[in-house]
Amino acid sequence: MIKEEIHRLHEALPEGVTLVAVSKFHPLEALREAYDAGQRVFGESRAQELQAKAPQMPPDTEWHFIGHLQTNKVRPVVAHASLIHSVDSEHLLRAIAAEARRVGKRVDVLLQVHVALEETKFGFLPEELKSLLESGILTELEDAVRVRGVMGMASNVDDPDRIRDDFRRIRECLPAGCDTVSMGMSDDWPIAVEEGATMVRIGSSIFGAREY
Ligand SMILES: *Cc1c(COP(=O)(O)O)cnc(C)c1O
Repeated sequence: MIKEEIHRLHEALPEGVTLVAVSKFHPLEALREAYDAGQRVFGESRAQELQAKAPQMPPDTEWHFIGHLQTNKVRPVVAHASLIHSVDSEHLLRAIAAEARRVGKRVDVLLQVHVALEETKFGFLPEELKSLLESGILTELEDAVRVRGVMGMASNVDDPDRIRDDFRRIRECLPAGCDTVSMGMSDDWPIAVEEGATMVRIGSSIFGAREY
C-alpha cells in the first residue's frame, strides 16, 4: 500500500515538485517501507518525534520540520531538519538563527503564511509577511538562516475555488529571489501544483489515517 502510493505520487508529480512524505504519528516500519520505495524526504511536526526517529533511519534520509515550533524546542529541530517549513513569527526566526550560529550552521527555512479561513492556523498574514521582509531582517540574519520561500495551507473547505484562491495568495507571498512554495496536502495537492507548488506535504494518502 505505502509502496504503491509512493510510486503513484512520484509518477503523478511534475518534475521539480518535491514530495514530502508526512510521517508524523506513524511508526518507523512505515517510514522504512516508504524509504524502500525510493522516498527520501520525510516531514515531521513534533520535535521529540523527529529526534527519536532521525537516528533510526538511513543517513541519506532528509528531514523537514512542518509543525508549529516553540522556541524551547529549536535545538533538536536545527540538529536534524534540513528545512523548517513552519516559521511563523519573528521571535522563532531569531531563535533559529541564534541556534544556527551556536552550532555553526546555516539553516534553510520557509515562512508560513496564513490565508485560510480557520483562525487556529499559524502563520504570518500576507501584510505581516510584507512588513517583516521590509524590516531588513533577512539580511540581518543571512549568515545563519536562509529563507528559501513560503509554506501555507488552504482553508479546510470543499469549495475548490476557495482552495485555489488560498493557494494563489500563498504563492503571491513568495519573496523575490526565493524558489520554494510548500503547499498542498493529501486532499488538495493537485490544485496546489496547478497554482505553483514546488513542494507538497502528503501524509494520510500514503500512510493511512493517523492515530493521535
Ligand atoms: C499533517 C500535515 C500535513 C499532511 O496532511 P495529510 O492531510 O495527512 O496529507 C501537511 N502539512 C502539515 C503542516 C501538516 O501538519
